[in-house]
Amino acid sequence: MNKLDTALVSSSLKDAGFALVDSVKEADAVLINTCSVREHAEQRVISHLGHLKHIKESRPDLVVGVIGCMAQRLGAKLLEHKAVDIVCGPAQIPQITKLLTETLRQRKETITITGKIRRKTTQNESRALEDFESAYGIGDRYIPAQAFVRAMRGCDNFCAYCIVPFVRGPEVSRPPKAIIDQIRKLADTGVKQITLLGQRVNAYKYQTGEKTYCLADLLRMASDVEGIEWIRFVTSYPAEEFFDEILHTMAALPKVCNYLHIPAQSGSDKILRAMNRHYTAGHYLQLLAKARAIVPDIAIAGDFIVGFPGETQIDFEATVELVKKARYKNCFIFKYSPRPDTTADKRLADDVPLEVKKIRNIELLAVQEKISNQLSADFLGKEVKVLVEGLSKKPHLNVAENPDNPQLIGRTETDYIVVFNGPLSLAGQFAKVKITKTSPLTLFAELA
Ligand code: SAM
Ligand code: SF4
Repeated sequence: MNKLDTALVSSSLKDAGFALVDSVKEADAVLINTCSVREHAEQRVISHLGHLKHIKESRPDLVVGVIGCMAQRLGAKLLEHKAVDIVCGPAQIPQITKLLTETLRQRKETITITGKIRRKTTQNESRALEDFESAYGIGDRYIPAQAFVRAMRGCDNFCAYCIVPFVRGPEVSRPPKAIIDQIRKLADTGVKQITLLGQRVNAYKYQTGEKTYCLADLLRMASDVEGIEWIRFVTSYPAEEFFDEILHTMAALPKVCNYLHIPAQSGSDKILRAMNRHYTAGHYLQLLAKARAIVPDIAIAGDFIVGFPGETQIDFEATVELVKKARYKNCFIFKYSPRPDTTADKRLADDVPLEVKKIRNIELLAVQEKISNQLSADFLGKEVKVLVEGLSKKPHLNVAENPDNPQLIGRTETDYIVVFNGPLSLAGQFAKVKITKTSPLTLFAELA
């Protein structure tokens, strides 16, 4: 979601005549797009701001803006920071060029955020966001031929630990026409893969006249767009709503990637209840079994929070059991971080010591690593199709050593990361590769 917002903001700034530079040294203005999901993400922003404050001592003209969820959460408090000139919430990013131009010209501090975040978005606000979104429907700046497309904004689920409903506001599904028009435009610019975004993207619902559109409808319509070859969607919430229809659509349509990111968060029913997740571990596993029955080669990824208030060793062991049974391709595991305004923070003591959270995090990762290793090993010797993203994480080394055949990175339809040597001209193209070695999270290959 934040990558998309960053792409939209950079693109609108470029359209307004700004140029993007690679370092603060060359910049007249710095914008930091922020996340509030865990405290650690916010601490990193504060530390960046400390650094920028130093720079501003010798370059007082440098304009610094904080945009996104942290701007919405902290509002005027952020303006008290010596480095900060602009504070702009996620719903106000359509105004960013205006704010930046004015601040550069007049040197005044500016703040624009949503006053009452849980109130319904007004028609004017929705229109501004829609116009912004569709006018700047560009691809990901860093990954050629790929783009994110927002299907839904906000969230109404109020999981007890989560700040998203308080910074992104109420859940709204975008009109299907706007989404598909945007995908068409992206396809015209050479985009081959789109990822539909929503906090509970499987709950996408848009009523117009007699018809209620769901995610499966969007997948079918996106599939008809010429030029688009792979379609993904994240994140799915473990609920029955539309689940079967989405999976049948995935099975039927070759363009819809056989991949599901469906966080469980915990394997303990007691903790799931306390988290306000509306399912049990048993129900969750049934959904995975159903997904595998309908789409046999589906790859499934999950998220977990360890150390949620009241999580005992027995609760944690239930999570370990669930991970073993779920056989995820990979998992994102987070240590519980209390977030202001959330029910968990207001009502429950953060009673699992940090040391215990760390140990559980490491243990769960180790359990998952074994499973990922087994699943990856199945690829050995096989040929797979990847969409090439560009140079791998060690580009300097590889380009320097091997300029015509550097190490590239690509992803399979099921989201496996593959590294192999090949010409950089393959970036943004599909390639066939043969897997020669595997590790838990990376497959190694040669061009087939
Ligand atoms: N909407 C998605 C869902 O419901 O699965 C997840 C969105 S959240 C931005 C991404 C992940 O961050 C969650 O799946 C959860 O595991 C983690 N997360 C959210 N709040 C957290 C918190 N307070 N502490 C630690 N992890 C958290
Ligand atoms: Fe947060 Fe829950 Fe909404 Fe996901 S579904 S964004 S975890 S409140």
